[in-house]
This record gives sequence, C-alpha cells and structure tokens, in this order.
Amino acid sequence: MNRDFQNSSDLLLDISILYRSTQKYYDQMLQSISLTYAQLPILILIYENEGISQQQIAQDGGYDKGTITKQVQKLEEMGYIRVQPSKKDKRAKELYTTAKARGIMSKVYAIRTSWWRHISSSIPKEDMAAFSNFYKNMAASAKEFAKADLNAISFFEHQKLSFQSVPGKVSTIVATGGCNYRCPFCNESHLVFLKEDSISYSQEEILQYVKSRKDMLDSITITGGEPLMHTELDPFLKKVKQMGFFINLMTNGSYFEHLKSLVEQKLVDRVVMHIKNVPGKYGETIGLKTYEIHEVEKSIRLLNTEKIESVFVITPVHEFHTPEDLVAMAKWLQPAPSLELHIFEEKETVIQKGYHGYTREELNKIKKELEVYIPNVKIR
Ligand code: SF4
Repeated sequence: MNRDFQNSSDLLLDISILYRSTQKYYDQMLQSISLTYAQLPILILIYENEGISQQQIAQDGGYDKGTITKQVQKLEEMGYIRVQPSKKDKRAKELYTTAKARGIMSKVYAIRTSWWRHISSSIPKEDMAAFSNFYKNMAASAKEFAKADLNAISFFEHQKLSFQSVPGKVSTIVATGGCNYRCPFCNESHLVFLKEDSISYSQEEILQYVKSRKDMLDSITITGGEPLMHTELDPFLKKVKQMGFFINLMTNGSYFEHLKSLVEQKLVDRVVMHIKNVPGKYGETIGLKTYEIHEVEKSIRLLNTEKIESVFVITPVHEFHTPEDLVAMAKWLQPAPSLELHIFEEKETVIQKGYHGYTREELNKIKKELEVYIPNVKIR
C-alpha cells in the first residue's frame, strides 16, 4: 500500500494525547489534596457558581447524569462540597463549596495556571486566542452532536444527479464510508479509509434533498465503500421507500444476510453486485489473502433465484484477471441474466498505483465467449 500514514495529521489523536498528559499531570499534583482530574472542573464550577445545580453542571460540562452524580457524591464524602435542597424547586439540589474546599482553591488555581503556562509556552498569544475559540466551537459542536441520533447513517459522497447509474431513470447517488475489502486497484480509497475530516452528509440532509427534488428524481443509488456493512442503512432505506423512490444498491455481496433481509423486505429494487475474480483468486484480488467466499456465493445464488432486478459487474485488470478467468467467472455466475464489464481507469484516489485495465477492444474480443454463459453482456 502506497499511502503515507506517517504524514497524516490527526487532530483528534493530538487532542487525546493532550488530554491524557493533562490528566496525568493533574492527578499527580492533586494527590496531596485527594482530588482527581475528573473532580477538578466540577469543583471549580461549584466554587465559581455557588448554589449551582447538578443538572446545570451536567449541561455546562457535557457530562452524563451518572458521572456527575458519582463525582458529586465523592466530593461530598471528602468534605469539599455540601448539597442542599433548593428553596425554589424542591426536586432540585444546590451545591456549595465548604470551608475545606475554599482553603485549597488557591492551590488548585496555581496547579491549573502552571500547566497552562507549560503547554502554551511555545504558542504566540494571538494564536492561542484563536485556538481557544476554535476549540470552544468544536466542543460546542461535539455537545450538540451527542444529542443527535447517533445511529443514523452518514454518507461521504453525494452526486446530485446521474442519468447513467440506473437505466432509464434519473438518480441521485450517495456513498457510505468504509469497506471490508482492500482491492488494490480500488479507486475509492477516500471512502475505504475515511479521514476524520472527510466531508459527510447526514441522513437528514440527503432525505431533505431527495424530498425537495421529488419531481425530478425517481431513483436513489446507494454505493460505497460497502453499504451493507451498515445496519443503520435500513431505516434510511425505509424512509426513501416511503417517499416512493426506486432503490439501486451497489455491493460486493459479502454481507449475505443483510442483502437477503433487504431483498425480502423489498427495501431494494435493483442490486448491482461487483464480482472480484474466480473463487480461487478472490482473496488475492480483494487484498485479503485468506478470504472465504461463502457469503459471496450465497449472494450470487440469492440474486439468481429471487425475482429482483440484478446485474453482476466485473472490472477486468490484467494483473489479476486472465481472459480465461473472465470466461470462468461468467460460467460461475450462471444463470445470471446480465453482466457488465467495466473498463478500469486508474484515478488519483486508487489504493495502489500501477494496474492496467482491459481496453474496450480487448473486452470486445472476449465478450462473445462470455455470452455463451450469460445472454446480456455490456461493456461500460
Ligand atoms: S473496490 Fe469496492 S469492494 Fe473493493 S475495496 Fe473498493 S469499495 Fe471495497
């Protein structure tokens, strides 16, 4: 694989390193007063907002209720805070620091200032202000996101209009992220190996889009990566189906149960299954040497027996497929009604460079041999 992972910057990893180093420092420095890093921001919040409620701390700090209850209990047991029922709302509790806490706060602030000075010493003041702002905004977005439906599917590419993905229909194409294969000649490395800053489209954004273009679109194509890795795809498909769209699914066929369930629920109308090679060369072709192809075989059988529109696709690449392999694949796929041969052209986003696709002329020569087994063979 030619990807240079060493140069890729990973902001979240850096944030995580910063967090863990800070935790280590604070835990060490706070040992003498029996506090931990987890309790510190809660104690400071109470000290700076005497009478604050537990609920408010959870909201301001982005904590879940369980964590906050546990830490408040500990602080109370250690004698740093006292909890008293609110006079305004009997169900609420107000939190106050004790004299013991107030006695150590100057030490706590000194520890905090010293750490801040240490980690920010090499950064100019004006950069620090901008960084603090960015960080604040990111934290606010993270809190917002935590409230959203985390089980909803996200997409990482959206081609708004396509006249080719489904014959005779106007389609919009969305791509899911991640794949269980590593085909070296895969042109979608950006979808297989997602970067943390990849642009994504929420389920809601796509639903809004298709709804607003209902007069123009009649189909949605789901591609990837491998869409069937995601069980959270199903609720999305149900919503799209309810709107009356034709659903075209592109898959490598390796998630048989998921495919079967979608076919049975009639949540897909057409399946395009990419076949990678003859069984004996499958693992090598998908970049996973020890791969078992049972699931793929079951998916082929399913599409050949169920009454659902389906197309098998092969992308012949000289380094992986001999002409004999292509004929053997057509024989293996029988009684499939149709097969597409896609012409491979290397893109910038290929996983591994240097592979050579069959030309149209080469494929035209082989086409007749494939039609012995599959009646409808197209070259695209
Ligand atoms: S070509 Fe398809 S199956 Fe292979 S790695 Fe790329 S997305 Fe996955």
